[in-house]
Amino acid sequence: MAVSVFDIFKIGIGPSSSHTVGPMRAAQRFVSDLGRQSGFGEVTRVRAELFGSLGSTGHGHGSEAAVLLGLEGEDPTTADTDRMRPREAEIRSTGRLRLDAAHTDPGHEISFDADEDLVLHRTRSLPFHPNGMIFTAWAGDKVLSKRTFYSIGGGFVVEHGEDGHPAVVPDSTAVSYPFRTGGQLLEHCVDNRMSIPEIMMANEISLRTGGPSGEQSPDGALADPASQGGDPAAVEARVRAELLHIWEVMRGCVERGCSRSGTLPGGLHVRRRAKRMRQDLMDRERRSAGAPEPFGSMDWLTVWALAVNEENAAGGRVVTAPTNGAAGIVPAAVHLVVRYLVPGGQSDPEEDLAGTAEDDAVVDFLLTAGAIGAIFQQSASISGAEVGCQGEVGTACSMAAAGLAQVMGGTVHQVCNAAEIGLEHNLGLTCDPVGGLVQIPCIERNAVGAIKALTAARLACAGDEQQIVSLDQVIRTMMATGRDMKTKYKETARGGLAVNIVEC
Ligand code: SF4
Repeated sequence: MAVSVFDIFKIGIGPSSSHTVGPMRAAQRFVSDLGRQSGFGEVTRVRAELFGSLGSTGHGHGSEAAVLLGLEGEDPTTADTDRMRPREAEIRSTGRLRLDAAHTDPGHEISFDADEDLVLHRTRSLPFHPNGMIFTAWAGDKVLSKRTFYSIGGGFVVEHGEDGHPAVVPDSTAVSYPFRTGGQLLEHCVDNRMSIPEIMMANEISLRTGGPSGEQSPDGALADPASQGGDPAAVEARVRAELLHIWEVMRGCVERGCSRSGTLPGGLHVRRRAKRMRQDLMDRERRSAGAPEPFGSMDWLTVWALAVNEENAAGGRVVTAPTNGAAGIVPAAVHLVVRYLVPGGQSDPEEDLAGTAEDDAVVDFLLTAGAIGAIFQQSASISGAEVGCQGEVGTACSMAAAGLAQVMGGTVHQVCNAAEIGLEHNLGLTCDPVGGLVQIPCIERNAVGAIKALTAARLACAGDEQQIVSLDQVIRTMMATGRDMKTKYKETARGGLAVNIVEC
């Protein structure tokens, strides 16, 4: 299955891609299929059950509101983030739920007893993945539909197939340069003398035009991409525009995070810091009147990453990169590119960013980071519930390191080495969110991850392309380490910091 850059960077809602975005998507899919298959007329009751890590930490991750709004037909890309909690409270207090209301206003209204019909199983798991969900719909005593879904990280959802295995729908679209591993990606680059963003862009065009340019049809004729869904140049322009829109949403998230103060929800009383830190940093820069700021780029990286993850923790609009918990690292690194690495880049990060050089750098960065994310998604895991935080923050750090190395002018080998270093120094990282909230250690961990990504890119670009450990070897090591990791360190809030910090 070819993974698009837009599968890795998805506009969603906080605080968690696997615990908020995925469950909302699964609930929405269940309801829309139900409506399509049998209509809502007969439906009298719907029940959602969350298992494993979703059952343990779903409450702190906003899974309940996500499922309820998903049943009402909301989509994570467009759901009004300010409306989620109030609507959840309303459903609970009135005992009424409106199935698919987002599409068929006013929807099909049914009784909904949240104590009975929205169940978090804290100690039960389903077989395939720690983030399991079962949805059931009845007409009186008759079961109309019962389906099992898994939220496998980054907002991806798969369904349990009849054979007892997850049903992954194969993507029949051939891409120009298929790859699942770092080795395959490198081979395409070297054989075709292309950069990683060029490879990724060619694949995006294939995905949208129905196949690779010049692909031979069974009768031997060369396929014409224009006849398969669009002129490649126009498709490329659309891909660029959509990537720049992703960047706009990332920037908006940073701006909101840098403009809000107060305490984050959830009861841990974690205070937002991005706004104050940014103000301090700007004051310092003003006072230094152009003299070099020894920690300038590092402090900006910290501010940008904190801003995103504070917004995420507050349930705001966030781009998965590749997950919500790790969503601050890539945007922080892209901000760094725009401010410090683009020739004639912005001296003031608050100014409007326009101009071809900046756009080119952002597009190249996101395509490169997306290619690395696609390798993790296809050959490993980006789920903290499956492999610990190394799969979330480790993956994001690896992606950001690759993007930075690309924009710094690294060769394809140096870019892959940057991705390797970015993960290597996150191996073994556990997922132990205090109180089951994506706040401690997640928010600071993103700031540290962004700085590690910069170091990884610098190390790789300073090297001679030789790296003893390859990207594929370190990814395999992450998976093996994740398998050996005890369940309590994999997004259950039953180990590590989560049990050594007294909740206030
Ligand atoms: S500790 Fe890491 S994997 Fe776990 S919720 Fe936080 S960011 Fe995600």
